[in-house]
Amino acid sequence: MKVAYFSMEIGLNENIPTYSGGLGILAGDHIKSAADLNIPLVAVTLLYKRGYFIQNINPFGLQEEMYPYFDPRAFMEPLPLKVKVQIEDRDVQVGVWKYNQIGTSGRVPVYFLDTDLPSNAPEDRLITQFLYGGDQHTRISQETVLGIGGYLALKRLEPNITTYHMNEGHAVFLTLALLKDLGGDREKVKSRCVFTTHTPVPAGHDKFSYDLAGKILGEALPSNIRQLAGNDILNTTVLALNLSRAANGVSQLHGEISRQMFPGYEIGSITNGVHHLSWTGPEFKAIYDKYVPDWRSKPEALGDITIIPDSEISEAKRKAKKRLISYINSVSAAGFTDEQLTICFARRAAAYKRATLVFSDLEFLFNLSFDRVQFVFAGKAHPQDQPGKELIREIINIGKQYENKLRMVFVPNYNIWVAGLMTSGADVWLNTPRRPREASGTSGMKVCFNGGVNMSVLDGWWREACLSRVNGWAIGDDEDQSDDMAAAALYQDLDDMVTTYYAKPKQWLGIMRRSISDITPQFNTHRMVQEYFRKYYR
Ligand SMILES: *Cc1c(COP(=O)(O)O)cnc(C)c1O
Repeated sequence: MKVAYFSMEIGLNENIPTYSGGLGILAGDHIKSAADLNIPLVAVTLLYKRGYFIQNINPFGLQEEMYPYFDPRAFMEPLPLKVKVQIEDRDVQVGVWKYNQIGTSGRVPVYFLDTDLPSNAPEDRLITQFLYGGDQHTRISQETVLGIGGYLALKRLEPNITTYHMNEGHAVFLTLALLKDLGGDREKVKSRCVFTTHTPVPAGHDKFSYDLAGKILGEALPSNIRQLAGNDILNTTVLALNLSRAANGVSQLHGEISRQMFPGYEIGSITNGVHHLSWTGPEFKAIYDKYVPDWRSKPEALGDITIIPDSEISEAKRKAKKRLISYINSVSAAGFTDEQLTICFARRAAAYKRATLVFSDLEFLFNLSFDRVQFVFAGKAHPQDQPGKELIREIINIGKQYENKLRMVFVPNYNIWVAGLMTSGADVWLNTPRRPREASGTSGMKVCFNGGVNMSVLDGWWREACLSRVNGWAIGDDEDQSDDMAAAALYQDLDDMVTTYYAKPKQWLGIMRRSISDITPQFNTHRMVQEYFRKYYR
């Protein structure tokens, strides 16, 4: 058995900017756990030399983007191999870089595909340059390089692939290359592929006109493509569903929503996780190593932490929080302290994430929180997303306008490193998505490994983990809710939370302990990858 895992973005560490958010980080964590567990897997993605941008906030609160050039040579090795992909009747050469530093075994290589070669036409050199920067034309060209180029490269590099795992529909054109190789036998292709869908938002499913698809992919498109990918438009999700032996969403609720969106297909669910060794900060690593040494190979061992004294948990949290606060005070004039309840909100600035919900009733918030709560915000907007940028500006302006009534800071340039700092330092991780838009979410899981607690709408993974007021807080109940209802529930919870933190420290510590012991054993990628292995890979 050998699995080929295809993903449009993979986030391995902060030095390699080939990810933009949740999907890429999840892919990186999936690969790391597969390596730790000795699951035979190889991964394929694109090499973006101008990948994830650096976010700067200008004096007017506007996001500005910088795309420093990423030089892969310090991190990976160019292979003496090129494959040829036809794009718009041109032969595009695709080079391959091999990253071989995951885990200790080096047995899970990641192959990065790169069209930036001197032998290519200038416009083709740019295909893999930017991550999600381009128009439909660039996008389908990138997906052609990933799917078909990736398939052809693996044919040379990794014989005996038994299963192709498409992480999102972006990779679906690999099925077309397989179809060619397997004599057009749809059933045979199906028996080789599995597919994970990652979003319940319809716009998140890539669709291309058949005009464009025909122009770019040419002869790679089979004659029955409309039967496989939809009559009027090429829907990558539909194509993937039709050519996979198994498909899944990334939480139970997301599985349900996906079945409603794509009736007639069997779609299961495997809830996401995080790679525990990557997302536990040094403070909690030290106490787990001391008291639960098995946790490194078996994160489920954290299900019993009775042996860890309260004092060590408080001390580890205090230190991790201090690390966050020192950073904040070094990059801003916020003047935060180590003592106050610190609530973090870090997400891509997209409307459905409702970053400003907590500001719905400012007077209430000022009364409740001043001198008791510090808010830390972070997150990037997509460079072309004006409303997203406006949202960031709004948050920053609220902070400026009410600096005497509200302790709040916006930390620029949310990335793997900032996420590590924030998820280890947070007392509380706030999440207010408009249900059921958050397919899973994973950042809140990182917080649990670091003794923080979640306060979130019952969407995605949190709906499966939360015992409200026992291991965190649920905002509202297990129903879809209006913004007004969500805001009212949020304030009630905030009030309860602030009281518990300051007046009932023992109870707070109990919730921290349950956040670790209830949640981390389940919501990690070791469990997740083993579930993929059992259900879909074998
Ligand atoms: C974990 C992580 C995410 C995913 O977070 P969610 O908002 O929970 O989906 C996104 N970006 C970065 C940098 C992360 O580390």
